[in-house]
Amino acid sequence: MTTSAPSTAATKALPGTLALLGGPPAVSLPDTTRWPLVTQDERSRVLSVLESGVLVSDRNQVTAVDELENRWAEYVGAAHSIGVCNGTVALQLALAALGVGPGDEVVVPALSFVATAMAVANQGARPVFADIDPHTFNITAEAVENVLTTRTTAVMPVHLHGLPAPMDEILDLSRRRGLRVVEDAAQAHGATIHGRSVGTLGELGAFSLQATKNLPTCGEGGLIVTSDDTLAHRIRRLRQFGETIEAGEPRRYVSHEIGWNAKLSAVQAAFTCAQLDRFNQRTQAQRHNVAAFLERLAPLVGLFVPTIDRPGVTHAWHILRFRLDPTVVGLDASEAASFREAVHRLLRAEGVPLTRYQLMPLADQPAFGSLAPTRAPQDFPHTRQVLEDSLVLQRRHLDPSAGPLLQQYADAFEKVWDRLDIARTLVRRSAR
Ligand SMILES: *Cc1c(COP(=O)(O)O)cnc(C)c1O
Repeated sequence: MTTSAPSTAATKALPGTLALLGGPPAVSLPDTTRWPLVTQDERSRVLSVLESGVLVSDRNQVTAVDELENRWAEYVGAAHSIGVCNGTVALQLALAALGVGPGDEVVVPALSFVATAMAVANQGARPVFADIDPHTFNITAEAVENVLTTRTTAVMPVHLHGLPAPMDEILDLSRRRGLRVVEDAAQAHGATIHGRSVGTLGELGAFSLQATKNLPTCGEGGLIVTSDDTLAHRIRRLRQFGETIEAGEPRRYVSHEIGWNAKLSAVQAAFTCAQLDRFNQRTQAQRHNVAAFLERLAPLVGLFVPTIDRPGVTHAWHILRFRLDPTVVGLDASEAASFREAVHRLLRAEGVPLTRYQLMPLADQPAFGSLAPTRAPQDFPHTRQVLEDSLVLQRRHLDPSAGPLLQQYADAFEKVWDRLDIARTLVRRSAR
């Protein structure tokens, strides 16, 4: 920001002065982070598809789609991986392959991206929402159990922000109650529970390759994983107009069931293959940078940083969510939203690009109004609380070179926390 006022010794703000009050912002580095990273590898992989002359994906030819499918199956430790056009369709095809449809209820978290519930609704089934745990932001088996009815046929746990949902408990409940399990792993590539990749713990797992996700493509894409041969066969058929493409055989143009055109393009797959070459290396750098960042924020009183709740779990750190406690500055717990707004203004002025991720429980989305007639302001109390009192950091920390920038974000948090009474003043002033 530039100012026309002359910068004299008398008016010059001290370095410790909050940027919102005219001081210099704590973040001085330009934000040069990028996501996805596009290197010579991505360029040459994509170019080689363009130059191969094979741009259709409905023939029995080995393409980058096959390569990506094979490599991802191996990476996560599943027998099969099927490339599709996006993560939402991946979820829907997974449900379709299980025979979930009209008359069925599918339990999804009250806090997630809208696609989780929309895939259920697109399949003609009814999404039923379960509240989250306020510390992990994931559903619990108990919350799922609370909303089960005789019509519930499946549960779709989301590994939100990259933290695995409590799959042991959810799988145990599913076995007891005869429920199918589709994991929404769109935000959690590489996250594991006891060394096993998310997406492979339930019957089917869906990943998104959308450009902002941890394993991105240069646009839209998705991958479904399963170790069930029959389900894999059915999904391949559903993605291709209900046709079966046999190895070494010409396409027959016989549709065995109503399917979709849900194929993944070879260009998108080639880009992701290049991303996969350096996925482990990038993930390690991200983990290192995020750990160093969170370590500095953890001591700040009234700031709750994301953590890993159980041993044996790795976090994909897709989104970093921070909760804020208004009572540390003497505000009432009911003033959480105003406090969050005040802290947001202070940190944004310092140069920290925090945002909000999801503004309401999924059940409140107008799109689901007719599907969730029982919703009420007192439903999903944890989800509502978390949405009121938290802010998120997205994307910046995914770039492996973000370490120094994250350290300046930490400087900004520390600076604001030194003068957190100002946040209280801002809340009181706006209340008047
Ligand atoms: C991104 C996302 C999806 C949908 O994936 P698309 O590839 O964008 O269709 C589904 N669920 C969650 C939790 C997501 O974050």
